[in-house]
Amino acid sequence: MKKMIKKPIQKLMIALITATSIVTASSLGLSGCATTTKDSVSGVNRSQFMLLPASQVTKMSAQAYTETITEAKKKNTLNVDPAQLDRVRTISNRLIAQVGVFRPDAVNWKWEVNVEKNDQLNAYCMPGGKIMVLSGMMDKLKATDDELAAVIGHEISHALREHGRERMSQAYVQQFGLQALASFVTGSAGAAITQGAGMGSQLFFALPNGREQEREADKMGLELAARAGYNPDAAVTLWQKMEAMNKGAPPEFLSTHPASASRIADLKALAPKVRPLYEAAKKS
Ligand SMILES: [Zn+2]
Repeated sequence: MKKMIKKPIQKLMIALITATSIVTASSLGLSGCATTTKDSVSGVNRSQFMLLPASQVTKMSAQAYTETITEAKKKNTLNVDPAQLDRVRTISNRLIAQVGVFRPDAVNWKWEVNVEKNDQLNAYCMPGGKIMVLSGMMDKLKATDDELAAVIGHEISHALREHGRERMSQAYVQQFGLQALASFVTGSAGAAITQGAGMGSQLFFALPNGREQEREADKMGLELAARAGYNPDAAVTLWQKMEAMNKGAPPEFLSTHPASASRIADLKALAPKVRPLYEAAKKS
């Protein structure tokens, strides 16, 4: 999202929200804390702006995911290659087994992992743990297990950090303004919040993550993969491979995830920090 809300307004809203018990308990899910995840080796600890309740965002996402699954089934493109599905689920489950490090509640999310036959290079994890990997990642990019773990770990991290809810919240304020917040705070959000919910699934796909959100997903994803026993160096080779593919038909993933030199440099710099976790995971 290009147009961010202004800082003072953001501060005011955070103050209002934390001062209001109705919203704090349901929307933050973590009492007295304005960040969605626990700090760890990768150092992701930014305070976040959240307005829409987590339960609502999770519900919208589950609906959108079910629709995608239904569509794919109709087109005969859902989980058509059992070996590929097994591979993606094995990797994803190893990553999911580590999410408790960042947030214990995510261990009990209703995680789902599916593969859609589609030549595009893309993958996503919707809020609440709904993962989809497009087969182009395997068929065209020829991603190794470590590289797939890097992509899926990155996407899982977006979900753990609730970046979807964060950007939906920002868009909500832009669209409906402070008046909507007022009705939210008094507990009579009514029509406004319903409209907000309606645009939720569209927003998830339409609004790209901001640069800071991308950086966080890179960092946390790298740690998640290392803890699951996947080589952190693969994040770098993954982006390099993506970039090489970019010369032909640009991978869809790159439109929202630019493989910039700084991104690759950051991953290279962080890899040694999480390598001990990878070594330890390999031994056990
Ligand atoms: Zn991302």
